[in-house]
Amino acid sequence: MSHPLGEYELVIGLETHVQLKTATKLFCGCATRFGAEPNSQVCPICTGMPGMLPVLNRHAYELGVRAALALHCEIAPFTKFDRKNYFYPDLPKSYQISQFDVPISKNGWLEAAGEGHTVRVRIHRAHLEEDAGKLLHPESPVGRADYSLVDFNRSGVPLLEIVTEPDLTTPADAHAYLTELKQVLQYTGISDCDMEKGSLRCDANVSVRLRGATVLGTKTEIKNLNSFKFIVKALEHESERQIRVLEGGGRVVQETRLWDPVVGETRVMRSKEEAHDYRSFPDPDLQPFVITAEEVERIRRTLPEMPAARRRRFVESSGLTERDAEILTADRAIADYFEACAALHAAPKLLANWVIGELRKEMNERHLEAESLAEKLPPARLVELARLVEDGKITRLVGKDVLAEVLTSGAAAGRIVADKGLAQIADAGALEPLVDKVIAANGKTVADYRAGKKPALAALIGQVMRETKGKANAPLVTKLLQDRLGA
Ligand SMILES: [Zn+2]
Repeated sequence: MSHPLGEYELVIGLETHVQLKTATKLFCGCATRFGAEPNSQVCPICTGMPGMLPVLNRHAYELGVRAALALHCEIAPFTKFDRKNYFYPDLPKSYQISQFDVPISKNGWLEAAGEGHTVRVRIHRAHLEEDAGKLLHPESPVGRADYSLVDFNRSGVPLLEIVTEPDLTTPADAHAYLTELKQVLQYTGISDCDMEKGSLRCDANVSVRLRGATVLGTKTEIKNLNSFKFIVKALEHESERQIRVLEGGGRVVQETRLWDPVVGETRVMRSKEEAHDYRSFPDPDLQPFVITAEEVERIRRTLPEMPAARRRRFVESSGLTERDAEILTADRAIADYFEACAALHAAPKLLANWVIGELRKEMNERHLEAESLAEKLPPARLVELARLVEDGKITRLVGKDVLAEVLTSGAAAGRIVADKGLAQIADAGALEPLVDKVIAANGKTVADYRAGKKPALAALIGQVMRETKGKANAPLVTKLLQDRLGA
């Protein structure tokens, strides 16, 4: 079998920055709220005024430990913070507080569901650091203005950087890993992982080498990957570019490249020669931090069931397909909602169909957040609706309209069915005149059907359903039509 990369293989490592879900910043009491007026959430500490002392946000530290435990990492009993020195206008102190040689955690792993196989990725380390500010480049009437603005609201916001070993070998596996990572971080309440708000950012280290080689090829680092789709495209593009360089007799240069989503390729941002020497050293303003084994255990005990375990349980004890379980567990709030419904009903599969199909569609159309679903549609309401369909009181088709109505009005499904006269028509006597009417009005379709075009029957059934606004029992309509037409 030919391989898309020919005789080459791809080696990928990912560095993911996630914003920790805290109310305040990592070393001061400023708010972390997204979308606030520029420079409205700043103080002398996060803007680097002389003489100010940072104090570690305990909640951010615990969230970091919690994430590390969810990623099966070892927790360092002693950790410290370092200054990473570089000059950039978005960095008021001219150093970033990060962790250099003693991160809060290392040596973990994460397993993700790849396409037809399990992707196991080792986590090299996870450490805490503060975010930088944000540069804004205003437009003037003649293009970009000749000045930039800086917003320090983000400066000092707590980040966890999660670094993998170079264990990934395809863009699809990288996608699977990131999807799983995002779910784990959301399940554990560590981050909202909203890429549009910058609370999950990813850099990729990529190299290629001849299949079976033991030495790694020269890698490039790709930055500016702000969607999972772009990550896959950038990895595909960059690996192909490196192979072309090698095939042409050249050598890959170690450099940082930027993904340009408009052009659809990576381009050089800076070469290794221009790379920063950060001159890291321990931050003298921050005490080293000690955590006891008991405290680590206390945090470990608060971890919820992880998405992978939940998927397995949905398949094994609720009889769902892998695909259904994947969809239902992708969001913890949806999974919780489904379980609350399933607890009230003997056939989880039927409820899964409602949640995955109609309910998700309605949620999309109404921009209804999963978190507010149980309030808008209490589980008992959905179960009542599902039962009306199962018991044949209403058709599945009408059930869809009733669901929309329940969501709009908040009324019970049974009430809506009674008030609007939506009960299923399963009485041959009531349907026969309609069947006759449809046959009389659709002479061509009837002739087609009699001439052997079997699909014509579906059109006739559809006509009868329309006449009854979806209330007719479809199997009965089918039988009545077939009887009349002499099938
Ligand atoms: Zn501050």
